[in-house]
Amino acid sequence: MKTVLLLTLSAAALWAQDRPIVLKTSTLFDGKGKTLRNTIIVVEGGKIARVGGAAPANAITYDLSALTVSPGWIDTHSHVSYHFDNHDRFGARDEPQPQAILHMADNLVRTLDAGFTTIQSPGAAVDKDLRDLTARGILPGPRILTSLQPLTETSGDPAKLRELVRQRKEQGADLIKIFASKSIREGGAITMTQDQLDAACGEAKTLGLRTIVHAHSAESAKAATLAGCTSIEHGAFVTDEVFDLMAKRGTYYDPNIGVVLQNYLENKPKYFGVGNYNEEGFAYMEKGLAITLDTFKKALTHKDLKIIYGTDATAGAHGQNYREFIVRVHDGGQDPMAALISATSLSAQSLNLGNEIGSIVPGMQADIVGFDGNPLTDVTASGRAVFVMKGGKVYENEQPGSKVGYRPSSKGSR
Ligand SMILES: [Zn+2]
Repeated sequence: MKTVLLLTLSAAALWAQDRPIVLKTSTLFDGKGKTLRNTIIVVEGGKIARVGGAAPANAITYDLSALTVSPGWIDTHSHVSYHFDNHDRFGARDEPQPQAILHMADNLVRTLDAGFTTIQSPGAAVDKDLRDLTARGILPGPRILTSLQPLTETSGDPAKLRELVRQRKEQGADLIKIFASKSIREGGAITMTQDQLDAACGEAKTLGLRTIVHAHSAESAKAATLAGCTSIEHGAFVTDEVFDLMAKRGTYYDPNIGVVLQNYLENKPKYFGVGNYNEEGFAYMEKGLAITLDTFKKALTHKDLKIIYGTDATAGAHGQNYREFIVRVHDGGQDPMAALISATSLSAQSLNLGNEIGSIVPGMQADIVGFDGNPLTDVTASGRAVFVMKGGKVYENEQPGSKVGYRPSSKGSR
C-alpha cells in the first residue's frame, strides 16, 4: 500500500515537472529596464523558455494578471543565519543548536517569501550547509552564495591572506569577504594595509573568486578599489573623489541604507550589551541614518557608478529586505526603475550570474515574483510579494483562490 502511494506521488510529481508552466501577466518588468504588457512567460525545466507567443496546450497556468511581475529580487548582503534566540536575544552562546537551525530556516523562508530568490551571505561557516540544503530543495529558501568566514586585518600578513583565500576556496566559498575598516559603531576607519588588500583581492581574482569589502571610510574604499576588489559594502563616508574612482574602475557600490541601521535601532534591547552594541555604538548608528542617506544621494550623482542591492540584513530584518527599496526611492530619490534594475539584473551581474538570474529573458532561471501593486508607482508594494517562483517551482502564491499558500503570515522575523 505504502509503495503504491509513493509511486503514485512520484509519478504525479514527474508529470507536473514535465508540463510547461505559463504565467499570464499584464505588467511585466524584464529587470533590464523594459516593461512588457499583456504577455505570457513560458517556463520549462525550471528555466524561462520564452516570453510571448501562444501558450502551449498542456501547460499549467498561473494567472498573474492582477499582479506586477518582475525577476526575483537579489540581496547581495544578507546575514541569513543571524537571528534572535527564544529569549529574544542576539548572539546567545548557550542557544541549543536545533533551535538555532530552526531560526535560520525561518529566515530563509521569510526571505524567499518576500520575493528574494537569491542572496549573498558574507558570511558564516553555517551558510555552506544552508546553501547546499536550499540548493537541493530540502529547505525552502533563496539561492545562497557565501564567503564563509570573512578575512580581517588580524588574519595575517599578505602571504597569510593569500593562503586563507585559497583555503576558503577549498572550503567551498563562492566569494571572499574582507573587512577593511572598522564598524560604523566604531567610526569606520581603515584597518587593512594596501598590501593586505592587494594580496587578498589579487589572489581571489587569480582563483576566479569575487571579493566584497566592508569599507566605511573613503580611505578604506579607495584602497579596496585600487586593489581591484569587486565591491565596496556600506561605504558610509565615501567621497565624490572615491566614487569617481570606483565608477572608473567598475567597482560595485553596495550602500545598505534602508534596513540594517533601522533594524538595529528598532530592536535595540535584543542587541544591547553584545560586543560593540553599547550606548556609544547605538549613538553612532543613530547618526548613521542621515549620513548613509546623504552618501547614497551623493553616489546617485555619479551616473556610471554601479549601485547594487544589498541590505546587510541581520537578526530581525529577514523578510524585510524590500525596505531598502523604499528608502532608496522614497527618501533617497533614486529612480524606481533604476532601483528595480539594481535589485535584479545589476546585482546579478555583480555576482557574475548575469546570464543565469536577474532578468526575464529566455534561458534564464525561472526566478519570478508577483507583487500586489506596482512597486514603481507605490513603493510599499515592494513589501507585498504574493507570488514567488524559484527555478520554476512555485513557493508562494497568496492570491485569493490559489492553491499554494494564501496563509496568514506575519512579516516580522526573529
Ligand atoms: Zn554585513
